[in-house]
Formats: sequence, structure tokens, C-alpha cells
Amino acid sequence: MRKPLVAGNWKMNNPTESPRTLLQNILHSAHMLDSILSSSENALPIDIALFPPSVYLREAQEVLSGSRLQWGTQNVSAYDEGPYTGEISASMIKGFGCHYVLIGHSERRCLYEKLELDQYVLDQIVAEKYAQAINNDLTPIICIGETEDDYESGKTEEVIARLLDILIAHKGPKALANVVLAYEPVWAIGSGKSATPEWAQSVHSFMRQRIAKHDQASSESVRIIYGGSVKAHNAAAIFCQADVDGGLIGGASLDAEEFIQICFGAT
Ligand code: 13P
Repeated sequence: MRKPLVAGNWKMNNPTESPRTLLQNILHSAHMLDSILSSSENALPIDIALFPPSVYLREAQEVLSGSRLQWGTQNVSAYDEGPYTGEISASMIKGFGCHYVLIGHSERRCLYEKLELDQYVLDQIVAEKYAQAINNDLTPIICIGETEDDYESGKTEEVIARLLDILIAHKGPKALANVVLAYEPVWAIGSGKSATPEWAQSVHSFMRQRIAKHDQASSESVRIIYGGSVKAHNAAAIFCQADVDGGLIGGASLDAEEFIQICFGAT
């Protein structure tokens, strides 16, 4: 049985309240969620993780240490150390008590668009970051998703298979067992236009089957979460799909109450 994960990606947003207050409010709401869950026999335990901007990692560490909430960064360097201005290495991230790291978010991929780098090259960089995370004992959450054009022209599976195959070639299929994959269709991010539960299920199932061709056990244990306009009102319907193991939440993760309602949808 895979444990659901709900992750809150704050992106480059300043919470309405201070970052410390938002962290404390989420922690407080998570305690209330736990007490509701402990009185319900059928509720699933879930993992909850927060991804504030890196300058707030110290606050995350201070507020969340010792709690059951985990945290991580929104990016990681593909290199160990050296002259890479503005980058942060996996070992530095580990030093802040992080458990996870987000890799390959489409909002980072677009930063490279002007360089006109081939998507295949970007996938290779994602694979290098993935290796950095694994080598430093961080759990990567690797984002995959098609653009609106890809979606319209029926290229979703092609886009996803390309990255999965590169990840498998890089570290072997067994390494995927402990990874989290996040299916985030670019057209659904921040648009209010979430994928339907059926669409999310069909793509997640495709991902699992692609991995199963190489290693059945990894395909069954890899967690695949969905991201893109998940809100309190649609979370449960998406999360109850057989191959959806939780969600990666953007805008709604900046509101403690709504975020915890979304977490409740995964239980
Ligand atoms: P929204 O939930 O704001 O659509 O963002 C999703 C996302 O990009 C999470 O990484």
C-alpha cells in the first residue's frame, strides 16, 4: 500500500501572513487533522510536505522539526559544488533538514525556453538533478507534464515516456521505487482548469505501466501525485483514483485551512 503524499509548493509567493506564521498555522491545522484521523478507523495516514522559497528554510526547520511534517526545496543544482552562482547543492539542502526536493517543475523549464534548448536536453538535466538528490539521501519529487499544445496534439504519453526512459537509463528502474513522480499538466497549473479525475488516472496508469516494463516492484511502490489547480472542492475526487497517490498543490497551499482540507481529501 502506497502512503499518500500531499505537498505544498509555495513557489515565489510571500504568504499574506509571515512565512513563519503560515508554517505554524499549517502545523496547527495538521494536528487537528491528525486528531480527526485517529478517531476514524478507515482513514489512511498521509505524508505532508512543504516547499517554501529557500530563504525560508531556516524558519521551516525551526517550526517543523520534530513534527510529522516534512519540507524541501523547489530546485537543486545538478552539480556537487563550485562556481555555479545562485545555485544550491543537494548537500546544502540536506543541511537544512530537508527530506524532499522538487525537480523539473515546468515553471523552471520555461526559464530555459529563450535558450531554445531541446526538451530532451532539459530532461537530461532533470536526470542529473535526480542523481544528485538520490546520492544525498533526499527524496526527489520529479515533475512531468505536457504543454497545452502537446495535449491538443495527443503527445502526452510521448512527453512523459521520454523523461521516464531517461530517468530509468540514468539510475536503473529499481531506484524509482523510492521516488515521487508528479504529473503536472502545464495547462492545468494556475489556470483553474484541473485535469479530470479520469484523465489524471489514465496518465498515472500509463506511467506505472511504463515503469512496470522494466521493474514490476518499482512500478507498484513509486508514488505518483497529481498537480494542477487542485483545490479543496476537487481534491478528493482526484486523489481517490487508483493510481493517484496524493497531490502537489500550488496556490491553495498558501492558505492553511484550504491546504489541510486538501490533505483530508487524500485520507
Ligand atoms: P496550482 O495548484 O496553483 O495550479 O499549481 C500547481 C503546481 O504547479 C504545483 O507545483
